[in-house]
Amino acid sequence: MSESSERDRELGMHRKITRRDFLDGVARTVGVLALSGSAAEALAGCGKKAQPLRTPGLVGYPPGLEGWQGQTDASSAVPHMLRDGSFWGNAGSPQATGETYDLVVVGGGISGLAAAYFYGKQNADARILVLDNKDDFGGHAMRNEFHSAGAGGRLLVGYGGTESIYAPDCWSRTSSDLLVDIGVEWKRFYKYFHGSFWKDLYTLYFFSKESWGRDCAVVKGAGMSLAEFLKQTPMAEQAKRDLVMITQHPKDWLAGLSQAEKKRKLSEITYAQYLSDVVKVHPDVVKYLLNSTSDDWAFGIDALAAIDAWADGDQPGFAALGLNDARPYKDNASKWDWNTEVPYIFHFPDGGAGVARLLVRKLIPGALPGDSMESEVLAQLDYAKLDLPDNRVRIRLGSPVVKVRNVGETARATGVEVTYVQNGRLKTVKAAGAVMACWYSMVPYIVDGLPEIQQRAALFMTRSPLLYADVLLRDRRAFQKLGIAELRAVSPDALWPASWLDYPISMGGYEYPMDLDQPGLLHMTAAPTEFGLSPREGGRVGRQKLNAMTFADIERNLRDLLARSLGAGGFDPARDIEAITVNRWAHGYSIGYAWPWDKAFYPSGPLPGEAAARPFGRITFAGTDRSSTAYMNYAMDAARSAVDEQLNRA
Ligand SMILES: Cc1cc2nc3c(=O)[nH]c(=O)nc-3n(C[C@H](O)[C@H](O)[C@H](O)COP(=O)(O)OP(=O)(O)OC[C@H]3O[C@@H](n4cnc5c(N)ncnc54)[C@H](O)[C@@H]3O)c2cc1C
Repeated sequence: MSESSERDRELGMHRKITRRDFLDGVARTVGVLALSGSAAEALAGCGKKAQPLRTPGLVGYPPGLEGWQGQTDASSAVPHMLRDGSFWGNAGSPQATGETYDLVVVGGGISGLAAAYFYGKQNADARILVLDNKDDFGGHAMRNEFHSAGAGGRLLVGYGGTESIYAPDCWSRTSSDLLVDIGVEWKRFYKYFHGSFWKDLYTLYFFSKESWGRDCAVVKGAGMSLAEFLKQTPMAEQAKRDLVMITQHPKDWLAGLSQAEKKRKLSEITYAQYLSDVVKVHPDVVKYLLNSTSDDWAFGIDALAAIDAWADGDQPGFAALGLNDARPYKDNASKWDWNTEVPYIFHFPDGGAGVARLLVRKLIPGALPGDSMESEVLAQLDYAKLDLPDNRVRIRLGSPVVKVRNVGETARATGVEVTYVQNGRLKTVKAAGAVMACWYSMVPYIVDGLPEIQQRAALFMTRSPLLYADVLLRDRRAFQKLGIAELRAVSPDALWPASWLDYPISMGGYEYPMDLDQPGLLHMTAAPTEFGLSPREGGRVGRQKLNAMTFADIERNLRDLLARSLGAGGFDPARDIEAITVNRWAHGYSIGYAWPWDKAFYPSGPLPGEAAARPFGRITFAGTDRSSTAYMNYAMDAARSAVDEQLNRA
């Protein structure tokens, strides 16, 4: 046996888990697109083995599927062909379905569902069609379900994307009211969230030999000082002293500058540059902190503006600058959540999918049994009810939209025509108006005749790639033995910088497994990027890397990290891992406006998201890209604006 195949056996790569049967989401698809041979090229262009082009269709129950989820090759194939210009050459003629709607919504994420809700609220008889290219609704807000074989089929519910209701005390009236309308009372989470679960559990920091010369796992345990912790790490001695100094005895390294000058200076450099060039720390400090922002921002401190690192609140090195909370710039650091006073606990077991499912319950009565936010958790959504002809709102999955055009001259358009692919066929529907709630970088390829400046703004709105893995563990004894709930891989080479035991929430009859002898979910996050580049450029390279990775690559990497970091706790990946779901978000967080990199548009014009979202005839724009802020409340606010523009049309 070769060395690598022996290592694969140790890691458990030979273990049977269902996800390999769903490689790249292809096995779950049904509709083979009757278009052209260029389909195979489109997939080959993604770095994957060429497959016949398919569009996702419903096979079984989407939240229960394992393996690759999220933006799979199957769901991305048509959008990528559009982008590459290989779609229309052989597309043939669309068939008119004969359907006419008041509104068509492109994209069934939280924003698209919210747009359908807002429109229907104003106009109770309205007929609305929501089209989405994936095989599940909710966009990033995705639910992952597991049944543990080792525990008699016990159900464990996890989140595959959008994680929590963040800072709900700072939400707008619009988004707060929407939560109430769909039955979410966020204060109830205080009752359901078991903070005591973390009482004696801390964080393990893993330094890999590839980055630090030797593997080293250190638990920062109860009462341990930073200096004691650092003593055990392989960082250079000067770096340890520097890190303690910037954390515990920071100076005003910008002394002599005014508030405004300090803030401007911080907006002109990255956090890594601030530490290296202004504070002048040892390079190991930057290396240690490099990916510390990846799970929150989807890029490292080499791409994060120093102003945003300061605004984040918990990054070391700023405490003595004497900066006040006055809004510095209309950028990421504008900090809508500055005044939040609530903890980060407002989390359904299925994350934002709970919100998406409650929206669907409102839109399509009977699709999701129950009538409370609690009952959402265990209710099985009936996907067969989403697109019934008698529904006032229909949600059509596996249906990538390829063209939206105003009927007639833009300024005086009488309606829209929307073309999409379903079960391998091009189809059209007509509507009085359309809301684009997909990511904006696709809009120029879809919306016919969009002005050049608007196209440019939309193309600018790229999103950062992310991976969220849910790993079903047979038990969590290794975590118990090590006394940890979180694992941070502080190495620039680490694919998975941050992992943690799933949030301890019990509600609606769903009991979180508090006993670590029981099976439970480990949540792992990755933000593939290329260090040294801007968020957009690093994200582009990261997306390419991600597309070139097979499921086996990702699985091997994940198992290897867990084996090496948790080994002292007795973790054995071949024995302890029951199932893995990897949610791929090649187009994840909306990047917004990233100082110091983004030079286009603002400050000389509107933010790019605003420029991209100007109403175009009967087409308006929702989605988080509109507000340049990647949070679900902004997805809701953007939906409200797009619907108002539809309803207030002269
Ligand atoms: C991993 C991850 C974690 C996150 N965590 C949080 C969090 O904790 N809290 C929070 O508030 N926000 C979080 N977010 C941000 C999240 O993006 C927003 O909360 C919100 O869910 C975005 O909703 P959206 O509808 O604007 O976009 P999306 O969720 O991206 O929905 C857009 C939809 O449009 C579809 N679409 C795209 N192109 C087409 C086409 N051509 N035809 C048809 N459909 C199309 C897409 O498939 C998708 O379903 C997270 C995001 C990610 C990626």
